[in-house]
Amino acid sequence: MLSSLLPMIQAPYCGRFAPSPTGPLHLGSLLTAVASWLDARAAQGTWHVRMEDLDPPREVPGADALILRCLEAHGLTWDGPVVYQSQRTAAYEAALATLQEAGLVYECDCPRKVLRAQGGPYPGTCRNRRNPPPGAHALRLCAPPLGADQVAFRDRLRGLQVSALQRDPGDFVIRRRDGLWAYQLAVVVDDGALGVTDIVRGEDLLTSTARQIYLQQCLSVPTPRYLHLPLIVDAAGHKWAKQTGAPGLNLTQPEANLAQALALLNLPSTPALPCEEQLQVAQAHWNPTQLPQGPLFLSEALD
Ligand code: GLU
Repeated sequence: MLSSLLPMIQAPYCGRFAPSPTGPLHLGSLLTAVASWLDARAAQGTWHVRMEDLDPPREVPGADALILRCLEAHGLTWDGPVVYQSQRTAAYEAALATLQEAGLVYECDCPRKVLRAQGGPYPGTCRNRRNPPPGAHALRLCAPPLGADQVAFRDRLRGLQVSALQRDPGDFVIRRRDGLWAYQLAVVVDDGALGVTDIVRGEDLLTSTARQIYLQQCLSVPTPRYLHLPLIVDAAGHKWAKQTGAPGLNLTQPEANLAQALALLNLPSTPALPCEEQLQVAQAHWNPTQLPQGPLFLSEALD
């Protein structure tokens, strides 16, 4: 059974880093970029950058340029042009049309506040409505019925993962009420268009993966291999993120930043070397099975 969970990918390795331009990169996002870059380069693969700029209210003007400068400063070279999701509307519309033709999409105007108060999976309130709701509405994708299908995949670090989408999260949103495309749909369409074979990203996205694999199946897009990295946490155990006060990387000391990210990944850390050389050493030692499993605590000394 397990062998069927390992995607039979023959294509040459294609990886990607997909930041949202909501601010500068911090140590957590650098760690993801470094791990994903090393995995691609160790496999003689290509590595692409995609700006996930689908949510204008959350974006910071100029953050995309700053992120690219930051990647360059740390020696993280990418292949091909940078993809901007804001320019990919036609591809998302085409995917939506495919899902609609398959009868998998319906309109939903349930207020988010009500759903939050109810808790649990989306109860399917709008699924069998005869008349479409007037006014603004979200678009939901029907999850496979319970028992019919569970989504299973093997994470390269965490092993077998099985989810029943009907139980969590239920039918899920693919276009928001405000007309913005949902991350789940966009990421599947764009990874498919790029021919991504391997996704290396933070563990916070592990729960999204089943939705994405289901969408890949609905859209006949190949399923890539996945590796979800442990997250950096602060002393209180909170994810190291902009919202919890993680500072942007100091671009005057890329060697030290990179050495810190490599040390957290259990890789040789040599801050005295230029970034390109640090990456060369790390690439020679890259072995995803040796990555730490648990949360990554920032030690005082490194902080
Ligand atoms: N844009 C997402 C983020 O910045 C990453 C998406 C992905 O890697 O699939 O967290």
